[in-house]
Amino acid sequence: MTETLDIKITKTNHSRLHETDFSNLQFGRTFSDHMFVADYEDGEWKNFQIVPYGEIGFSPAISALHYGQAFFEGLKAYKHADGQVSIFRPDKNAARFNKSAARLCMPQLPEEIFIQSIASVVDMDRDWIPSKPHHSMYIRPFMFATDPYLGVHASKTYKYIVLIGPVGPYFAKVLRVKVETHFTRAAEGGMGYAKSAGNYGGAMLPALKATEEGFDQLIWTDAKDHKYVEEMGAANVMFVLDGTLITPSTRDTILDGVTRDTVLTLAREWGMPVEERRVSIAEIIDGAKTGKLTDAFGAGTAATIAPVGSLSYNGEECFLTDPKEREFSQKVLKTLDSIRYGAVADTHGWNYIV
Ligand SMILES: *Cc1c(COP(=O)(O)O)cnc(C)c1O
Repeated sequence: MTETLDIKITKTNHSRLHETDFSNLQFGRTFSDHMFVADYEDGEWKNFQIVPYGEIGFSPAISALHYGQAFFEGLKAYKHADGQVSIFRPDKNAARFNKSAARLCMPQLPEEIFIQSIASVVDMDRDWIPSKPHHSMYIRPFMFATDPYLGVHASKTYKYIVLIGPVGPYFAKVLRVKVETHFTRAAEGGMGYAKSAGNYGGAMLPALKATEEGFDQLIWTDAKDHKYVEEMGAANVMFVLDGTLITPSTRDTILDGVTRDTVLTLAREWGMPVEERRVSIAEIIDGAKTGKLTDAFGAGTAATIAPVGSLSYNGEECFLTDPKEREFSQKVLKTLDSIRYGAVADTHGWNYIV
């Protein structure tokens, strides 16, 4: 970091910390006392502030609401046994933030602003980070267009905000997964690789339908032929087939996940064969039937490693092995936890210490 941001700090005069029920945290519902806010005007980022978490005002004509110039990031801070706090690989999220911004004609945010804004609000509300096992602080940076103008144009003004909130363990229930062959999340030339708000709105109806059919999640297939695996819900998807770790290669329909990259890096270090390529539904279903498919899971910041229990394709459900017996995903989950909570040396330099 070359320069430190000049942040104007307004502290809350009523902390909600002691009124918060940390034994019953629901993802995304609890926010800490403060948030970081900045404005983009006249071609530059300004008005860096930490203020009490709360409502903000804007015109009902802002283009984010009408035309979807809005996107976000998601990362986590962890409290170590010695009280240290680390954020996992924020440089990766900073880079992806700017990829999303570019796709939506929105301004770049320098990496040092991204990281300092997050670190400063996490530092200010560090007492909010639970020290219980498997708990952490979810960090939600996002940007949206604020021009009060109904013309379909890229806005000239934007707001950047960082919200943070404590989260409990994600109970990795064994997921019944539907292979979706009608709806699509993203198409070639679209914005699947960006964490743009619209991608998630569009995924809600297919997800709802899958839930109504009794499934917990869906696997998206390619928009053209519905033959290739893309992602699982809002996570990347990985398989162990015949001893090889296989995952769809990144392309413009796939979000380049930090968890995905981390798992691939660890697997390669462990000497496991790794393939990033197009993955057909046919080979996965065949592997499930012949027993060659020994692991299948979603990988993402929120869920970490989410085991697939069964795969349903064209109305036929194939059950996979018991997740507790899966060597690879168990090992990767354990290793990830040890690194993030500082239980082992961070040899990759993945932990940004606050
Ligand atoms: C956020 C996200 C992921 C996971 O990315 P991480 O950086 O690992 O959290 C994967 N797919 C989609 C569609 C996502 O939105």
